[in-house]
Amino acid sequence: MSGGYSLGFDVGGTKITAVLASSEGRIKKRVEAKTRRFKGAADLINQIHSLGMQFNNFDKVGVIFPAPISRKGVALYAPNLSGWKNANIKEMLGRAFQRDVFIDNDATAQTISVKIYDKGRKYRNFIYLAVGTGIGGGVFVNNEIYRGGNGYAGEFGHSVILANGPVCGCGRRGCVEALASGRAISRRAAENSKEIRNSPFLSSIRLENLSAEDIFSGRELGDPFCTLLIDETIYYLSVAIANYINEFDPEAIFLGGGLIKNNESLISELKESVENELGNYTREVPFIKVSGRTVDLSPIALSVYESSKNSDG
Ligand SMILES: [Zn+2]
Repeated sequence: MSGGYSLGFDVGGTKITAVLASSEGRIKKRVEAKTRRFKGAADLINQIHSLGMQFNNFDKVGVIFPAPISRKGVALYAPNLSGWKNANIKEMLGRAFQRDVFIDNDATAQTISVKIYDKGRKYRNFIYLAVGTGIGGGVFVNNEIYRGGNGYAGEFGHSVILANGPVCGCGRRGCVEALASGRAISRRAAENSKEIRNSPFLSSIRLENLSAEDIFSGRELGDPFCTLLIDETIYYLSVAIANYINEFDPEAIFLGGGLIKNNESLISELKESVENELGNYTREVPFIKVSGRTVDLSPIALSVYESSKNSDG
């Protein structure tokens, strides 16, 4: 059963991507659709199932969601999908597909994919951090994904690095996601209207369209306000990553997500800043960028990893 094909779904707030791939990670077919996100869980289950009907010859299904998912397959909270809180997605999809269905948080599945399809295979203990619109992650401990007591471990984005800082989507204040994610970078910029007016680069962009990528582009052109914002972002991320290194002592840090993908120099800048931040605890920890293929294969990796664990007993 460890061979064969898996059908994987990446269910995002805006689109669903379905891929059929072999357990070695060869993608055979891919389909995309706009997520029907406002009609509740049963409707979205139907959408996922009918997308799946376009594929055949698969023996297991992996599904990933941008939400914390319990070990039983229940969403603790689903910020971008209505009617999903407390829905037992695993059970509903299992009934629809009549096959083994494995579901998890997207960042947890990406961490598993780093282990199975990327350089993570060289390490028993590593941390994966996705820095994009939000910040997520996961951790391998002693060669196994670490899920914690309920399945919610690895919420690295909700590590508070500034007590009483800005309010985060999770309800706390000063999480690294509320300070250094793509969304947070554009919000921090927009809060400084005077600096924006004085910035030769940003003053030409409409505030509501301002993206983190604009701030990075402004820095490339030497804009002082953009440079300050990115320097602060690197500092915030370094504080968080230094905490994770002190807490987990990983052999490597893997980085993915839009900000890492689109900004070539960011990973080496982060590494240097983390080394400073670690103080007397500085040690050599490689920082490794994950490939786009690793992210694409994450629902496949989830199903391959979980089904092999089940067959091992
Ligand atoms: Zn938070």
